[in-house]
Amino acid sequence: MSEQGSQYRYDILQKRWVIIASERGKRPQDFAVPREEVETVFCPFCPGHEEKTPPEIAAIRDPGGRTNGPGWRVRVVPNKFPALRVEGEPEREAEGLYDRMNGIGAHEVVIESPDHRSRMCDREVDDIALTLRMYRDRLTDLMRDQRLKYILIFKNSGSAAGASLSHPHSQIIATTVTPRTVALELNSCREHHHIKERCLICDIIKQELGSRERLVTIDDRYVAFCPYAARFPFELFIAPRFHQHDYSKASDHDLRGLAAVLRDVLGRYREALDDPPYNFILHTSPNANVRPRRAHYWDTIEFDFHWHMELFPRLTRVAGFEWGTGFYINPTSPEDAARYLRSL
Ligand SMILES: [Zn+2]
Ligand SMILES: [Zn+2]
Repeated sequence: MSEQGSQYRYDILQKRWVIIASERGKRPQDFAVPREEVETVFCPFCPGHEEKTPPEIAAIRDPGGRTNGPGWRVRVVPNKFPALRVEGEPEREAEGLYDRMNGIGAHEVVIESPDHRSRMCDREVDDIALTLRMYRDRLTDLMRDQRLKYILIFKNSGSAAGASLSHPHSQIIATTVTPRTVALELNSCREHHHIKERCLICDIIKQELGSRERLVTIDDRYVAFCPYAARFPFELFIAPRFHQHDYSKASDHDLRGLAAVLRDVLGRYREALDDPPYNFILHTSPNANVRPRRAHYWDTIEFDFHWHMELFPRLTRVAGFEWGTGFYINPTSPEDAARYLRSL
């Protein structure tokens, strides 16, 4: 098979083809990102402004701090303009041929640091670890809610990535349905396990550690690599090297290791791509406590799924072809992207 020119590559998790247009061979300096900074005069996430957010759900505070007052290091509040509301029942019903449900769910904001200007890649590893522990603790808490099928944790950094406030924060959205993108991955993993009795993501990690051509950074617990069928230039996949299906099971020690890897790759993004806007998302197992549930509801999930983070700088725009087909065209091959990121 030719290494030159474009290639179709199949994404075995998402069951979709991606076009790697490597003849475009875009290098980091070829991406110019328009940078309009969202700067508000008044920031509701800054210390001293706690009363400007809805009352907090959780926080990590220095000793002596009071609830809804300053002195916190990480703070979680309900989204002031939530996409979904907490109270009520889904009440799924038919409307002729169609189906509908009430907009039940949770929409929370994790304020990652009291420091308005701090970037995740500049913070101390222990500080990033506090944010990652808060994700875990919120996940654990939200999974007690039997109505919620899936809890997605994600970060939009920079206005081009969808952030509407520049204070460092991430979001949690819990839904009464399993999102399609997640369900596809869950099904791919279940099928692979059903046939091979192995975890698909453990198998992917093993292959990436063997070939090393898409590897970016690795330590004894975690690995970050550019996925074979990367949708976006410099897209990264971060996962524990040991099998673990549910992020809420990660220990404090594990999350400190994850914080170190995250800080490392975000530092590489900043250096290679001039501090780009980016998104990351956490794909963990669905809520096993959901009621009522179908027979065999994700009943091999513990063995077949493997939590991971997907991280990508926002360098390209999704346009007509992508919207019309579900295809992605990636102008930088994942092998080239990994080589650039490794070389820093
Ligand atoms: Zn602020
Ligand atoms: Zn695994």
